Order: sequence, then structure tokens, then C-alpha cells
Amino acid sequence: MKLKILVVEDEQAIREMLEMILEKEGFEAIIAETAEQALEILSETIPDLILLDWMLPGISGIELEKKLKKSDSYNAIPIILLTARGEEEDKIKGLETGADDYITKPFSPRELIARIKAVVRRTNKSLSVERIVFGNLQLDVEQHQIRVGDEPLDVSPTEFRLMQFFMSNPDKVYSRNQLLDQVWGRNIYIDERTVDVHIRRLRKILAKYQLDELIQTVRGFGYRFSFSGK
Ligand code: CA
Repeated sequence: MKLKILVVEDEQAIREMLEMILEKEGFEAIIAETAEQALEILSETIPDLILLDWMLPGISGIELEKKLKKSDSYNAIPIILLTARGEEEDKIKGLETGADDYITKPFSPRELIARIKAVVRRTNKSLSVERIVFGNLQLDVEQHQIRVGDEPLDVSPTEFRLMQFFMSNPDKVYSRNQLLDQVWGRNIYIDERTVDVHIRRLRKILAKYQLDELIQTVRGFGYRFSFSGK
């Protein structure tokens, strides 16, 4: 099932760009040009997240946000505010009134998608991501395939699940035991060294593309997947 994202933005160019980025990522974008229009849409559809422009004609973004956060039907919908550069005060006000995050224009598609996923994760929605993308590394859940560019990697089902877990939880350190729990399942007894064996294999596969350092060893603790610095 696609995640529904309501976009409220009066500027046509930004609206179209957002719609394109979201649909490319596998989200369903619902578009409103004004807060009034957004309220109409909301009376029929509950989106999974709202991308809300701050500066809107008529009811402003912040007014709409306050309204929604006060309403029992809508206060659980996470909101990311879109603000212009240099509106520090406004951002703080926005977060105080209950926005889940804000993003400053101009932003890159990658930043936007990362923020959306982070907010969805934080608000405990099960995000049915169909693809996880880091640069030219792509994990396709439906096709059960990991690709670098167009080239599929020769990974085992276990290694696929390990990569899926890593790529869904970047920049966090996991112990071997935690990885066993998450990837192999709690009820199976497997030696911790099994994790090392699979990590070694994954690194070897990734090394062909100079991507082996994505999986980092954290001495005395375990492993981390990190794309930062790439
Ligand atoms: Ca605007």
C-alpha cells in the first residue's frame, strides 16, 4: 500500500516538483494549493503525512497546523513544515505548535525523502518502503534485489535481509546479537560469528563498487551502515 502524502503549497513550480519527487519515490501525492483546499481534502481523506508550506494565501500554514493539531480527527497526522530560509523564529514557533519537523527551501529531493521517512518512523507508522536508495545503491523490496546502478548484486536471502535492515536503519550501531534478533529471528540459535561471516561476504560484494566501507565495524560493539561521507 502506498503512503499518502498531502502537499499544501501555493507555488506551482514547487508543487509540481514535490509531486514528482514523491511519486518517483513510490508515495501517493495528494495536492492542495491552499489551506482551504487542504481542509476539503481532509474531510474525505486522512493522509499519512502532510507537507505544509508556511506562507500560503488565506489561511496560513501555521494556522492550518494549529487547527489540525487541535482536532481529534487530525492531530495524529505528522506534519512537516516547508519554510523559506531565514525564518528561524517561525521554525521554532512551528515546532512548538506541534509540527513534527520542518525543511528549509531550497532542499534536495534526497533530503526531503530522508526527512519524510524519519518522521514516519518516529511517528511509528509502518512505512512500506518499496525501494531504499542511497546514491547509486538501491534495494528493491518487491523484486528482492539489491542493485548498484543497473547491476544486481549476488546476495543470499539472509544477506538481502541484513542489507534491508541496515539500509532501513542507517547510522545506528547494532551488536551482533541485535542483528541476529532482527535479521535471523529470536527463536533460532545461531552463533554470533555467523553475522561476521555474512558481513564479510557483503563487504566483498560491495567492494567491487568501492562501497564496502558503507558497513562499518564499531570496535567492541558491532556494526553500522552509514552512507554519510560517501
Ligand atoms: Ca508559499
